[in-house]
Amino acid sequence: MNIAIQPIGKIRTPYQEKFAIPRQPGLVKSAIGVIEFEKEFNDPNYLRGIEKFSHLWLLFHFHKTAEQGFKPLVRPPRLGGNQKQGVFASRSTFRPNSIGMSVVKFASVDWHNNQLCLRVSGVDLLDETPIVDIKPYVPYADNLIEASSELAQTAPELMQVEFSNDALNQLSKLNSHYPSLKTLVKEVLAQDPRPAYHKTTEPDKIYGVSLYDLNIQWRVSKQINVVLTVQKK
Ligand code: SAM
Repeated sequence: MNIAIQPIGKIRTPYQEKFAIPRQPGLVKSAIGVIEFEKEFNDPNYLRGIEKFSHLWLLFHFHKTAEQGFKPLVRPPRLGGNQKQGVFASRSTFRPNSIGMSVVKFASVDWHNNQLCLRVSGVDLLDETPIVDIKPYVPYADNLIEASSELAQTAPELMQVEFSNDALNQLSKLNSHYPSLKTLVKEVLAQDPRPAYHKTTEPDKIYGVSLYDLNIQWRVSKQINVVLTVQKK
């Protein structure tokens, strides 16, 4: 039996590439996502009452990795990328049906050029990810205080982030067009996006990441991520 799924819309986010996207939602609180609905769902009736919920579940399609298929075993980054775990015991993007789920914070609903937009924050999704469903987060059912996870009980440790004078000057010029940009860069780099093996083998490397249409470069110095430049691509 095949099930056809029609996306209800797509989400616009700052993340232009998989590199540096946090591993789960809520880790980069200033990452804003705006869901733009497909024509059929471009109707405020679909969202009536949604403001009564502080948080929402987004169900989405891992569209950038779906074609690569899946295997029964994956190597979760939390296990250093060396140990294997069943795909259904993981939150890997490489899975049957390529369905992802993320809890995000509700921000607002508005109209923009005849487009219904649902704004949320704390996203861990690539720009233009197809959204297949939205549901309210229901604390009494979804927030299980007895829940445990031997693999990932707590959020990853954060790195300290500092800005060069060049980066601070560039940020102050960009500030009016990209609200909370400095916070976004800081929160993204605090997650230490480097691949695990680089942490010992690439001490002087300059890293780059795209957020919106900006290129951010940084280097690690004495366990601190130092932002070197923030420039338009
Ligand atoms: N919270 C979701 C879940 O548990 O289903 C996603 C977890 S998954 C480990 C998070 C990673 O998915 C991000 O770091 C990013 O690299 C990747 N990702 C986000 N959007 C994607 C997309 N549209 N296609 C493929 N990979 C994506």
